[in-house]
Amino acid sequence: MATTTLTLKLPLLRLNQAKVQEFLRLQELNTDIANQLLTIPKGERTKLTSKDFNHIEIGSAWINQTIRNTNAATKVKQFKVLPLETNNQNWSLHKVGETYSLGFGVLRGIKQRVPLEIHQSKYQEILDGVLNKTVQKGSMKLWRSKKGKWYALLSVSMEVPDADKPQGWIGVDRGQNVLAVASTPSGMPKFWKFAQIRKIRKHYAAKRRRLHKAKKMRVIKRLEQKERRMIKHINHMISKEIVELAVDLKCGIRLEDLSNIRQTTQQKKKQKSDASFNRDYWSYFQLEQFIFFKAQMAGVAVEKVPAAYTTKSCLKCGAINQRDKHNYTCRRCGYRGHADYGASRNIGNWVGLSCPIELQKPLSVMVKGVQSGEVNGTPLSLVSGSNSCMGLVTQEQESPAFNETK
Ligand SMILES: [Zn+2]
Repeated sequence: MATTTLTLKLPLLRLNQAKVQEFLRLQELNTDIANQLLTIPKGERTKLTSKDFNHIEIGSAWINQTIRNTNAATKVKQFKVLPLETNNQNWSLHKVGETYSLGFGVLRGIKQRVPLEIHQSKYQEILDGVLNKTVQKGSMKLWRSKKGKWYALLSVSMEVPDADKPQGWIGVDRGQNVLAVASTPSGMPKFWKFAQIRKIRKHYAAKRRRLHKAKKMRVIKRLEQKERRMIKHINHMISKEIVELAVDLKCGIRLEDLSNIRQTTQQKKKQKSDASFNRDYWSYFQLEQFIFFKAQMAGVAVEKVPAAYTTKSCLKCGAINQRDKHNYTCRRCGYRGHADYGASRNIGNWVGLSCPIELQKPLSVMVKGVQSGEVNGTPLSLVSGSNSCMGLVTQEQESPAFNETK
């Protein structure tokens, strides 16, 4: 069993003006205290307890966490706002009928219960887990959004099932011409296309340019936030669909590992400017995070495979060819198809030379002496039981990885 920790962001319901005023006052007080603490040398600060703040009208549960937070914040010079936070022992969850509420002490002796707004049934399950103690409580934060809405941020941790042994792999490629492609072991593809999104983003970009000329930076910022929310929503949707597909087919998910691809400064610069101007730029990191999380919750295995050559290899014969935008044509076997689809198939069918390539180390196959009767140049995939890594050579060989699976 693996443990996972997540934060639930739950709006506080039916807050009256008096409560809102009190939360605000306490938050300001808390921030002041934290900033005072930061001026005290660390050696003395670590000795402080909530008793040293008895003269201040704020609950000791908040103060204790604030002391802990300032001790942990090594690089902060000053807090703009430090939300009220308390550890797992100082908040409680209650359920009456279908309504969940949060209990916590505000000031000495004054306790409050605030109902929570629950949007998703998934959250309900987790909260029920807190109530029957299968989910562990962490800290609780009272957090105010920029719009002035108050939320409880509940940190909870729980055991998640070990991933089931997959009966096959769904390959997911972050496409160059499409947003993403998933292909099932039998070769059935699913595409998520850019077209509609491109249209929306084009609209946003034009609006941004107009606002830029008018120097309306605040509005631009709001627009960017809106666009980010849209990207997030779509990433949630795609990751949900991919994980559902994996659950239905009892498969694992394979993604390409882009983290080891080295970039030149020039490329990095380009990527940075892409992020703000290119309509095709997409937050794949976020998509990957969502897939990992949703898969973990559903007991679906996720693997990352090296990205090298996934788009260039022919999915039928493994030969390396150049793609021409969407189109992929193999010069060796004549296969023609969608380039990103081919990549997703190659990712899904990857056979697993899972050790990283370390050229400094002698490869065991390389140093193995040639014995009589042994054939030089045996494809690595046919050398059974050998753990050696040949990395880049594999694509050239007729490895079973790139044969069609039935
Ligand atoms: Zn081919």
